[in-house]
Amino acid sequence: MSILCVGSMAFDSVETPFGRVDKALGGSANFFSIAASYFSKINLVGVVGEDYPIDALEFLTSRGVDLGGLQIIKGSDTFIWKGKYGYDLNEAQTLTTCLNVFEHFEPELPEGFRSSQFVFLANIDPDLQKHVLGQVDSPKLVACDTMNFWINRKLDGLKETLKLVDILLLNESEARQLSGEYNLVRAARAIRQMGPDVVVIKRGEYGSLLFDEGQIFSIPAMLLEEVFDPTGAGDSFAGGFIGYLAESKNIDHDSLRMAVVYGTVMASFSVEDFSFNRMKNLSREEIESRVEAFLSLTDIK
Ligand code: AMP
Repeated sequence: MSILCVGSMAFDSVETPFGRVDKALGGSANFFSIAASYFSKINLVGVVGEDYPIDALEFLTSRGVDLGGLQIIKGSDTFIWKGKYGYDLNEAQTLTTCLNVFEHFEPELPEGFRSSQFVFLANIDPDLQKHVLGQVDSPKLVACDTMNFWINRKLDGLKETLKLVDILLLNESEARQLSGEYNLVRAARAIRQMGPDVVVIKRGEYGSLLFDEGQIFSIPAMLLEEVFDPTGAGDSFAGGFIGYLAESKNIDHDSLRMAVVYGTVMASFSVEDFSFNRMKNLSREEIESRVEAFLSLTDIK
């Protein structure tokens, strides 16, 4: 089962209290695809400039990511994001966003991508998310992510996209901003009324909440001794979450709960190093043993 993903491919410059990195590989589609590639084949839709390194694209291909929907624009620059974290690693401060190649991006899905059953609309302009989704024949599951940048600039477009979405993943401050509700139970209820049946609210080191028809599921984050860079944690979470659902071909309550566990585990690998350095060379055994460790962390029997 393949997952279609549209999102950003970026150069990230990130400063945390533990170090800094300049022009590291990043972007929502990148983090998502690498995390999800441990569970499923990925059809990636995105755009980069001529400055994007070929070996980074070859790496994605080696992980089973089909780049048939990736445009490489001659004479243009890749999207750039610069951000900073203080000791509260849950909240990124955006310093610069240069859309570059994204400003004129009009994604056209290759024929083979149109029948994708699982779709992940990673963080990107909501109008582009809707444009891509409109080209998929009849997806079984559509999940979506967004951020304050788009809630501020494209709220109407985002609300249109949300009408077509089954699962929305977002962090707690974004959930509050989008819904206008401080309380997260109320915020999730308000967001579910915008379209998504399922809302996943990510709370950084405090874990995540899953709001589904008639139930709330709450789990902590993996307890780590070393958190280096939270950039991409949300996209890696989404990669584990959707990847698990696509692999299990099931989206019932129990599968959604287990998917949150896999999301949590993939995010925990992602934050252990800058960029996706830690997530690049995992084995499925390492992932499963961290899932076991996580489950025993929360086992009360
Ligand atoms: P997160 O998983 O939420 O930490 O997402 C981090 C990634 O989002 C970074 O690699 C950035 O390149 C990317 N990003 C930041 N701002 C935007 C934006 N406005 N649109 C799309 N992607 C972005």
